[in-house]
Amino acid sequence: MLPPVPQTSRLPRTVIVVGGGLAGITSALACADAGAEVTLYESRRSLGGAASSVRLGGLEVDAGQHVFLRCCSAYRRLLRRLRSDHLTELQERMDIVVLHRDGRRGRLRRNGLPAPLHLARSLATYPFLTPSERGRAALTAVELGGLETEDRRLDSQTFGSWLAAHGQTTGAIASLWNLIGQSTLNLRADQASLLLAARVFQTGLLARTAAADIGASTVPLARLHAAPAMTALREAGVAVNLGAPVQSLAGEASGCRVATRHRSARADAVILAVPPARAARLLPPGALPGGVDLTALGASAIVSAHVVYDRPVMPCAFVAALDSPVQWAFDRSRYAGLERGRYLTVTISDANDLLREPVAELRDLLLPALAQLLPAAREARVERFLVTRVRAATFRQAPGSARHRPGPRTALPGLFLAGAYTDTGWPDTMESAVRSGLRAAGQALGAQAHEGARGAA
Ligand SMILES: Cc1cc2nc3c(=O)[nH]c(=O)nc-3n(C[C@H](O)[C@H](O)[C@H](O)COP(=O)(O)OP(=O)(O)OC[C@H]3O[C@@H](n4cnc5c(N)ncnc54)[C@H](O)[C@@H]3O)c2cc1C
Repeated sequence: MLPPVPQTSRLPRTVIVVGGGLAGITSALACADAGAEVTLYESRRSLGGAASSVRLGGLEVDAGQHVFLRCCSAYRRLLRRLRSDHLTELQERMDIVVLHRDGRRGRLRRNGLPAPLHLARSLATYPFLTPSERGRAALTAVELGGLETEDRRLDSQTFGSWLAAHGQTTGAIASLWNLIGQSTLNLRADQASLLLAARVFQTGLLARTAAADIGASTVPLARLHAAPAMTALREAGVAVNLGAPVQSLAGEASGCRVATRHRSARADAVILAVPPARAARLLPPGALPGGVDLTALGASAIVSAHVVYDRPVMPCAFVAALDSPVQWAFDRSRYAGLERGRYLTVTISDANDLLREPVAELRDLLLPALAQLLPAAREARVERFLVTRVRAATFRQAPGSARHRPGPRTALPGLFLAGAYTDTGWPDTMESAVRSGLRAAGQALGAQAHEGARGAA
């Protein structure tokens, strides 16, 4: 079950949720579980938003590989609520095989010692750092763990400049800090906000021994999120409207009104759970606090290549790569409905530069890089090479972004915001989306209780 949102003395009546990504799904379920009559509008023909899959070249592929960590408690609770958590795998212990273009191989894995000692042994033998870099990295990790992440001043600096000021060499930043940071923040350290980086490393790596154990879906994301969400929403009594983009939104004396092309509907509360650029277009003027500009959040792209080889090429379920255009590669053969051959997803974060690159160029870039990293790929035949690109995979998690992440409340009493981009304290991830959905639902139901109490008085 999702955690209960604040109970009201008078049950809330009507809630409209706009957007059927993880944030909208979570809000809708939380409001319905609390007794509200909920209607959800989603512009696409399926639920799941960014965390979904499409059919491409005969394969069911995710628009990009999604992973989560053991510390993603809200997301994992949502999967239990959707009864799809059995369709994921979670490592018993964090274990990342790291391959260098030159053939060297390393491993980052934790042991059972209390954090941060759980990584000390792995760091002490990590082959891509010199002995002095290893010592400095351990000290810097302790300092990063001690940063006060409530201090918004951390958002005025890049993670990279902070690392450099703490003695991290360019090599250490590339082979250690970017390995984790670039994939979670979708920006390299020299661009990313120190505030968000500190939160990622503290929550995900340094605070608890088991926090960074890595999980992933064992089925295409549409089967992990979209289909189970549709079932759960219907069972909870939510009216789901797919292929129904909301075109406008306005506050009323009590509640809010939304309009699609074909109809207009009013509710006591509306939760707007769409990406920030779309929210900026839909929000009535003056709805956001002064100084908050959703368009200033920008966008970071993720480009993924989907490669089918005629034989096994990966030494394990996934690898991280150094000094290579391949950042991470995942063996998805078991999960994509492939009858023969092996299917790899290659993920490139912070990929705005590659958005317009033709498929042929990406093929010429990535296949030799895969062959350098994976000896078995040198002999293998490539049967398919497909590309997916998501221009606004996340907002641009750079310095200055914190002040443009709004909370769930707006200036309109009946209008609330959800979405991974909102101010959850987490980077733009599935965990952030679910947390934002819960907070918006809590505020919507709480506000209705408040309005109800005022009305009754
Ligand atoms: C390629 C890629 C890889 C990623 N990898 C990871 C990962 O490994 N781990 C991780 O945790 N996160 C990852 N993310 C980020 C994660 O997917 C997002 O943070 C999260 O799914 C966002 O959820 P959301 O509900 O806030 O927004 P969205 O998923 O964007 O949902 C918003 C929904 O609103 C709908 N909508 C828009 N406008 C309207 C309208 N006018 N009317 C009605 N509906 C509308 C959209 O169609 C969409 O379904 C990745 C993202 C991408 C793109």
